[in-house]
This record gives sequence, C-alpha cells and structure tokens, in this order.
Amino acid sequence: MSFVVGPFVALCDICQKPCLATVHGSYLEPDDENGPERYLRLASCQECGRGILLTQGVEETMDSRELTPPAVAWPDTTGSVGARVPAPLRREYEQARTCYQARAYTAVAVMVRRTLEGVCAEEGVKRRTLRQSLDTLQEDGKIDKRLVEWAAELRVLGNEGAHYTGSQVSPEDARDALNLAQAFLDYMYTFSTQFEEFKSRRAKRHRKES
Ligand SMILES: [Zn+2]
Repeated sequence: MSFVVGPFVALCDICQKPCLATVHGSYLEPDDENGPERYLRLASCQECGRGILLTQGVEETMDSRELTPPAVAWPDTTGSVGARVPAPLRREYEQARTCYQARAYTAVAVMVRRTLEGVCAEEGVKRRTLRQSLDTLQEDGKIDKRLVEWAAELRVLGNEGAHYTGSQVSPEDARDALNLAQAFLDYMYTFSTQFEEFKSRRAKRHRKES
C-alpha cells in the first residue's frame, strides 16, 4: 500500500467543481466495532483554500491492501446550502436544521420563517406581511413563482407556526418547511448567481468573437 499522499481530486463545495486538494495530515482510524479501518485526511482546496475532510477506505484482498477513492466527509453538502448564501442567512437556516435534528419541529417553522424574512430584508424588500414581500420578490423577477406558491401553501410558516396557537407543528410540515428554505436559498444565491456568471462569460466571449 502506498503512503504517498495526495494531492487528491475532490469536489469542492465553494468552487462547485472537482479541484485538487492538498493533504495536510492523515489519521488511520482502527478497525473496531465502530467501523472498518479508514483514513481521515485533512485537506484544503488548491483553488479557494477552504478546508475539506476526506475519508478513504482500506480494501484488503488476498495479497494486497488497496485504498478506495477519497470521498468528502465534510463539509456535509447533503441538506446544507451553498457557500454563496450570505452568512447571516446561512446561520438562520443552519439553526432551522439543528432544530429539526433535535425534533423541535415548531421551532423549525419559526426559523424557516425568519430565514425567508431574512432573504427579503437582504434584498431590500420590506412590506407589511411575509407573503407580500415574497410577491414583490417574484414581481421583481428574483424568485420563481413556484417557490412563492410553496411558501403560501405551508400554513406552518404563517400564524400556525409563528404565534401561540396551542398546537404543535408536525414532523412532516417541519420537513416541508426545511426543504422550502433550502430550495429558496439555493435558487436565490447559487442558481441565480451561477446563471448570471454564465451569462457574463458568454457575453464576454461574444464580444471577443465579434
Ligand atoms: Zn475550492
């Protein structure tokens, strides 16, 4: 088995593409009741410098030990939002996720509502109700109509979740609210930004060609 380490190719969450990762240190986790032997490698993206934790399994055959291709263990990109989401909004959303993991479902609804209010505030939209603010975002062409419909359908984001009613938010409704918040942030800050960047690259290319 080779102990020469890296650089590895890893999918960087910030760069949103496979990048070379420099390895700064490795730890071989022993094979025990917690799982099979594997390497944990602290690395950094050569493009943007962000830290990455890679895991690499060890596969034993009759006469050799092979390392499996490295996988990104952290940052956890499942359910988390892109790095382009403004930090204050990411904090709100991360709290919503934490509440969900802690099964505090009513608190999830409150945090998701705060996240959506935060998006409106970041975009300079402040109307009397959340619904009106979301409508304005849509009229300005900043979000998709389906996201506004989705938000309107989630009653837990309205009075049911935000104010004391004596009833609790169900796990399903909390999950729906969390999914909406994720889709919302990704649309606003990942999809839209990447699309704008694509358009400006294309325009530049056209100018060069003409
Ligand atoms: Zn990167």
